[in-house]
Amino acid sequence: MTISAMRDLSMTPATENGLRRKPILRKIGVFTSGGDAPGMNAAIRAVTRAAIANKLKVTGIRRGYQGMIEGDFIPLRSSDVSGIIQLGGTILRTARSKEFRTPEGREKAWQQLQNAGIDAVVVIGGDGSFTGALTMSQEYNISFVGIPGTIDNDIYGTDYTIGYETALNSVVCAVDKIRDTAVSHGRIFMVEVMGREAGLLALNSGIACGAEVILIPESKEQHDALKRFLDKGYKRKERSGIVIVAEGDEPGGALKLAENVRCEHPELDVRVSILGHIQRGGSPTANDRINATRMGVAAVDALLDDQKSIMIGIDNGRIVQVPFNKAVKLNHSFDRELLEIQKMLNI
Ligand code: ATP
Repeated sequence: MTISAMRDLSMTPATENGLRRKPILRKIGVFTSGGDAPGMNAAIRAVTRAAIANKLKVTGIRRGYQGMIEGDFIPLRSSDVSGIIQLGGTILRTARSKEFRTPEGREKAWQQLQNAGIDAVVVIGGDGSFTGALTMSQEYNISFVGIPGTIDNDIYGTDYTIGYETALNSVVCAVDKIRDTAVSHGRIFMVEVMGREAGLLALNSGIACGAEVILIPESKEQHDALKRFLDKGYKRKERSGIVIVAEGDEPGGALKLAENVRCEHPELDVRVSILGHIQRGGSPTANDRINATRMGVAAVDALLDDQKSIMIGIDNGRIVQVPFNKAVKLNHSFDRELLEIQKMLNI
């Protein structure tokens, strides 16, 4: 899909029987929800400006669903989103809201949207945020369109989520530095990266850094690879090593794993580095900005086309629309071939 043609809303077409017109869209809301991801600001900017270009008013909803419940709204004009495309985090802030999970919380949110005259909403977040949007749109007459924003890249129906590429590059930069000290001292580093349920960030950063072993929740057989490396690989040639551990690989993460390895191999110098929230921050990469911009424009396009409960995604470079119920229920496919490549190259 390309940039939408500007629409004259007074020309909104009548339905087939010629009697009823589609509900006219006047004001949209936009918010960010769940974990922050670099590139969310680029998406807010694109949504705001595409909406204004199509003669819509825009309201920014601050602090995710909690802000929606509390009516924490600000008007967004074109100048309000100026100079934010390069910023990490989200100018609208984000939150996780327990109250929104309750019918009472969603009723309050609905009232606030009604009071503010908001006809439809763009939600930028992960699958939890889309589940919330789907639930509310089934209870109340309000359209939501989603933009996938999460560093995990774990959402079905899109090759790409905003923030993933920036986070991947942050991990690669950090591990390259850790490698310098690992080689100098002959140490093994267990580097824990984010990914409670999805190991894509761990897998791809491990490939990009030439990690000796990559442990991810999707493949338990990788623990055999770790054993082989500790028993033979390290002594035979490596003298140091990087083991990338996705935080969801096993309870206790890299710290627990290092403790176990030290018990079995007291002769090895094993260290742990947990990259933590550094992975979420920073200026978004060019691709994160471009894709956030494309998806932001496509989200406004979809609302103008009277779409509801869909996520905008990117599939083979093309913008696609994925129903929320598929995006939240199906699993993002895991690239087993990449794991095989990593194993083959670590001879
Ligand atoms: P990330 O991938 O970064 O964690 P996310 O959008 O999946 O992002 P969640 O914390 O799972 O993050 O969800 C964000 C918010 O969406 C929750 O705090 C809650 O307010 C709302 N939400 C999630 N699941 C539901 C649900 N089943 N019903 C209603 N609201 C929900």
